[in-house]
This record gives sequence, C-alpha cells and structure tokens, in this order.
Amino acid sequence: MLKTTTDKYQDIRDAVRALCAEFPDEYHRKIDAERGYPEAFVDALTKAGWLAALIPQEYGGSGLGLAEASVIMEEINRSGGNSGACHGQMYNMGTLLRHGSTAQKELYLPKIASGEWRLQSMGVTEPSTGTDTTKIKTRAVRKGDGKGDRYVINGQKVWISRVQHSDWMILLARTTPLAEVKKKTEGMSIFMVDLRQAERSGMTVRPIPNMVNHETNELFFENLEIPAENLIGQEGQGFRYILDGLNAERTLIAAECIGDGYWFIDRVTKYVSERVVFGRPIGQNQGVQFPIAEAYIEIEAANLMRFEACRLFDASQTCGAQANMAKYLAAKASWEAANACIQFHGGFGFANEYDVERKFRETRLYQVAPISTNLILSYVAEHLLGLPRSF
Ligand SMILES: Cc1cc2nc3c(=O)[nH]c(=O)nc-3n(C[C@H](O)[C@H](O)[C@H](O)COP(=O)(O)OP(=O)(O)OC[C@H]3O[C@@H](n4cnc5c(N)ncnc54)[C@H](O)[C@@H]3O)c2cc1C
Repeated sequence: MLKTTTDKYQDIRDAVRALCAEFPDEYHRKIDAERGYPEAFVDALTKAGWLAALIPQEYGGSGLGLAEASVIMEEINRSGGNSGACHGQMYNMGTLLRHGSTAQKELYLPKIASGEWRLQSMGVTEPSTGTDTTKIKTRAVRKGDGKGDRYVINGQKVWISRVQHSDWMILLARTTPLAEVKKKTEGMSIFMVDLRQAERSGMTVRPIPNMVNHETNELFFENLEIPAENLIGQEGQGFRYILDGLNAERTLIAAECIGDGYWFIDRVTKYVSERVVFGRPIGQNQGVQFPIAEAYIEIEAANLMRFEACRLFDASQTCGAQANMAKYLAAKASWEAANACIQFHGGFGFANEYDVERKFRETRLYQVAPISTNLILSYVAEHLLGLPRSF
C-alpha cells in the first residue's frame, strides 16, 4: 500500500483496515455482480462499533468527532469497499443528535449504536424539483384531535438510498405550502419514518436499477400516517436541520473520495511498475507518470481541506465553505485518479477481476450526488466571492 504520512488517527486506521482485510476484493466484486448488499460487511462494521462513532458515549456510541468518522469512511473505500452502503447512518444520526428531543435521542440512539436499528436513509430529493429543494411537493398535514396526533404524508421522492436495508428514514416534507411562507426555506419539517411500518400503510418502494451497486429507490406516499411525536425539532425548521447535516455528509463523502483516490493510486502505481511494454515498465514513461502524479497531488490537497472542514465542524464552527470545497476537491481528485488508473491498466482496466471498473463507477457518482459539482461552484461564487445570486 502507498506510503502516506502517518497521522494521529493511525490506531483507527489500523483497526478499520484489519476489519476490512476480512472482506477482500472478491467479496466486494461478487456483491457488485449480484447487485447485492454487503450485509456481512456492514454487520461487522456495526458490531465493531465503527458506525456508531459519532453517537455520544451516554447513548452507547464511542463519542468520536467528524475527523475520526471521516477516517473510518476513508479506510473502507481505501480497502476496496464502498461506504455508500452504510455512510447514511453517520450523518443521519447527527441530525437526530443535534435537533431531536431528549426522548427521541433516548429512544433511537442506543438502538442505532447497538445495531438493533439502522438509520441509513434520508428522503429529500424529488423527481420534479431536483436540486431546487425548497420547491418540494411532498406534504405533511397534521391531523387528529386537539393539536393533532399524527401527520398524513402525500407525495413522491426519488433516489432514496438504502431504504431496503434500513429500519428508519429521515423524511423532509412541506408542512406549510410555499405560497404561505415568508422565506422559501421555511415551512419544511423533518420526520422519523418507520420504513417497514410505512411499507404496510401508504408508502410504495420502487427500486431504481443504476450504474453503481447503490441500493436506491423511488418512494410514493399515499396518505401515510406517522405519529406527531416523530417530528424532529420544530415544525417548519426542517430545511435548516437538513442543511446542518449536509456539511457532515459532504465532509464524509470527501473522505470516501480520498480513500478511493489512494486506492486508485495504489493499484495504478503497482500495475505500471510491473507491466512491461516496448521492453520497459510502462511507468517509466513520463506520459504515464505525470497524470498519476497529478492525481496524487490533488488527493493530498483535498485531504488537507477535508481535515480543515473536520476541525471546524468538531469545534462547532461554521464549516459550510470548507465542507463544500473538500467535497469538490476530493470528488475531482478521485475522478482524476480513477481515469489514470483505468487508462494505464489498458484493456485490463475493463476486466471485472481487476476491480478498477467497479471503483471507477463508484467514484463517478460523487460528481453528481449528494450535491453536483456545479452547485458547489455556485455556492462558492455566491457565498464566498459575493457574486450575484443566479437562482
Ligand atoms: C445513486 C444515487 C443515490 C442518491 N441517494 C440519495 C438519497 O439517499 N437521498 C436523497 O434525498 N437524494 C439522493 N440522491 C439524489 C442526489 O442528491 C441528486 O441526484 C443530486 O443532488 C442532483 O439532483 P438532481 O438529480 O435532481 O439533478 P438536477 O437538479 O436536475 O440537476 C442536473 C444537473 O444540472 C446541473 N444544474 C442544475 N441546476 C444548476 C444551476 N443552477 N447551475 C448550474 N448547473 C445546474 C448540475 O450539473 C446537475 O448535475 C441520490 C442520487 C443518486 C444518483
């Protein structure tokens, strides 16, 4: 494996690497070919406590920071796995932790920490609104006696991941119509949805076959009733709560891209050192060396921004700019590394048994989800450079 500077997270790295080593390339390749879910891998990570890293100790987790959590995700991807199967839990429970009531935290967090419940899903995106989230049409209307003891949900979501491998989902829905709010970001709320119960009473799940082995779905809600106590925080403030969680999500995904990036560099440097064409290793040609070196430089730079985002997040400071920039840099760097890796494997890059094409597909997603590169550029232009709003 590529030598990188050792950091203060070496113990975590070694422990996660040891666990990941029990799930070699063949395991992930087979799951990918079957379009399966890495159940045994996710169970092992849960049992070892890694997916409860961000849950405070009083609720049964290990109370670590975002920096440590990001190292866990990075190591999973660096080992050849795909954190996309389980990263939802890391940032979803942060939303619950920051904005849930004491009763909600006591109910959910210990069961999530022990692995009894999975909170892997977050339902935000809708087919007709896309990135323009404030225009979401899914409605939650409070009904019942007095102040109302339940919400009735109607609407549709798309690209909602891990629904079939999660017990709970955090759902964003409009509680006040857009036309009736002063600010478009108001009037949306978030709810805990018991997924198995919902499937029996008003929620239809339609899987979306896709390029990556990423379990993701269309959801249809028809008069789904959920108890009013499943509302997280204040009604109407859900968009703000979701945004808080997105900084953690972006930083964690940056770390996953960095893990992917190192994986590509590991594989391609080894391959080009060994593959002999025209009587010498192909890695002796500068035309081969330079794209690999360039990608490596970009991964290292992205890594610094990732840790800066983590530092600010863990110090409870504003980190939107750093989280977005880390995600941008890391997704770009891993994609450059993926391109160099597949290119210099020649035809073999396309053979399943080298795993390069699988990781190539997996890392490509992060240019688009959970936020597209253009939307990050637009955030930087508007919020950091003070340029006029374009939408
Ligand atoms: C495999 C997968 C898993 C996902 N999992 C989840 C999930 O679990 N939960 C969830 O809520 N969502 C999920 N998503 C949705 C994901 O967050 C969105 O696909 C992503 O945010 C882009 O939104 P969109 O697809 O609606 O693209 P659109 O908003 O339609 O945009 C399409 C493209 O147009 C460009 N664009 C749009 N607006 C602008 C603009 N103003 N300026 C410049 N360029 C612009 C961007 O390049 C963008 O890529 C997932 C998506 C995928 C593919």
